[in-house]
Amino acid sequence: MTKIKLYNTKTKTKEVFTPLDKDNVRMYVCGPTVYDRAHIGNARPVVVFDVLFRLLRHVYGTDHVTYARNFTDVDDKINTKAEQTGRSIRDITDETIGWFLDDMGALGALAPNEAPRATEYIPEMIAMIEELIAKGHAYGAEGHALFNVNSYKHYGALSGRSVDDMIAGARVEVAPYKRNPMDFVLWKPSTGIQPGWDSPWGYGRPGWHIECSAMSRALFGETFDIHGGGLDLQFPHHENEIAQSCACCGEDTFAKVWMHNEMLQVEGKKMSKSLGNFFSVRELLDKGYAGEVIRFVFLSTHYSKPMDWTEKKAREAEATLRKWSIAIESKSVAFYSDEPIPSDILNAVADDLNTSLAITKLHSYYKKGTPEDLQKLRLGCELLGLYIGHMDQIRLNKELESEEQKGDLFLSDIYNEKDSFEFIEQLILERAEAKLQKNYARADEIRTAFTNAGVVVTDTKDGVVWELSSSFDPSKLEALK
Ligand code: AMP
Ligand code: ZN
Repeated sequence: MTKIKLYNTKTKTKEVFTPLDKDNVRMYVCGPTVYDRAHIGNARPVVVFDVLFRLLRHVYGTDHVTYARNFTDVDDKINTKAEQTGRSIRDITDETIGWFLDDMGALGALAPNEAPRATEYIPEMIAMIEELIAKGHAYGAEGHALFNVNSYKHYGALSGRSVDDMIAGARVEVAPYKRNPMDFVLWKPSTGIQPGWDSPWGYGRPGWHIECSAMSRALFGETFDIHGGGLDLQFPHHENEIAQSCACCGEDTFAKVWMHNEMLQVEGKKMSKSLGNFFSVRELLDKGYAGEVIRFVFLSTHYSKPMDWTEKKAREAEATLRKWSIAIESKSVAFYSDEPIPSDILNAVADDLNTSLAITKLHSYYKKGTPEDLQKLRLGCELLGLYIGHMDQIRLNKELESEEQKGDLFLSDIYNEKDSFEFIEQLILERAEAKLQKNYARADEIRTAFTNAGVVVTDTKDGVVWELSSSFDPSKLEALK
């Protein structure tokens, strides 16, 4: 069985992954707060944990992995939007969940097995808060329920901070009903249009953190394998989840492995509305980027490193996926095969999701270029959730189209390029033959045409290998026909 290694943020080491129950591997990932379109940063954890989901399914079997990703559908940002638009909260959250699923589906993300909405687990949250109060880890005060951080000795262990450091660093106004300034809200009162439920502490709504503790417990039980999310959630959200769950259910409970993806930036800068570099996944898709292109850019950087979204990377990804798809189409590589996923790709992904290494290996299969290599390329891509060759269109982004290319590049164009592909191979043979015959003029003519057309030809000890650069222009080969 493939050995999976994962970097555990909790122990700060890369560990061999051993599931609690190999027949039911359980992974929980914090999902979005649903009040607006997902921005491209929100898509990073979705893509990263989708690759992990695919890997776990591959290793343990599709029916032996349960992936849960929640929707936070009770939150003050949602209330503000309802107030501003006059629409109901349910209407806004339903619409946003629909958008999210469509947009993430376009990036090739499989649907998780469970997609719990916070508002559907209010009784479980209330029950957990009552247990925490009964055990002396929480208290009610002025319509609130609060977690008592001093009652939980490991508070701060995940993010490596002490309660005193946190107090020193906190700029929040200290509410009078808190015993310790770092005590966090489990329940708070609701008024006006704010959504609310009856509870032992009065009419109100949950604080943010309790939902993940209560929902993972309801779906998975008190202990499960992997908990993921973006690094921005490590503190306070995940720290608070651990405090709630372990204080309630026992020290050795809750998630065994914690994984955090680093943040995504745009053109070297933090995304922010004021810099104008804040955009949604939908805007990118509408601009003409295929979902596979966005996914490919994401997977080119290891999840534990900050990742920079740039226009240049997207164009390069587009060119790579195009040429891979063309190669697969032109060599008639079968879409279904009993072949195993190439072990070097599988091992790279199993080594703490080293997707960038896996992509380097995919490039080398493409370069070798035999039908067997291209089948490996296709299978390796599938493990990463990239369905090359299946793509019914690989479009250049609209800007590029208008500058360099009129019209869309649809499958019909790829079939035309298939002819170019065969022609290139024919020319490579002709060039070799010309060199043998000492017809250097013809050999040079072919080499120059390749350079002009953007065909990169390299002589290696195993023979000639070639690839298309992003500026590939088949019309520049016409003169040789
Ligand atoms: P939110 O809706 O803000 O709770 O975020 C949903 C998910 O997106 C969480 O796992 C966040 O950690 C993640 N996330 C938010 N912004 C970014 C970003 N710029 N880069 C990567 N992940 C992010
Ligand atoms: Zn969470």
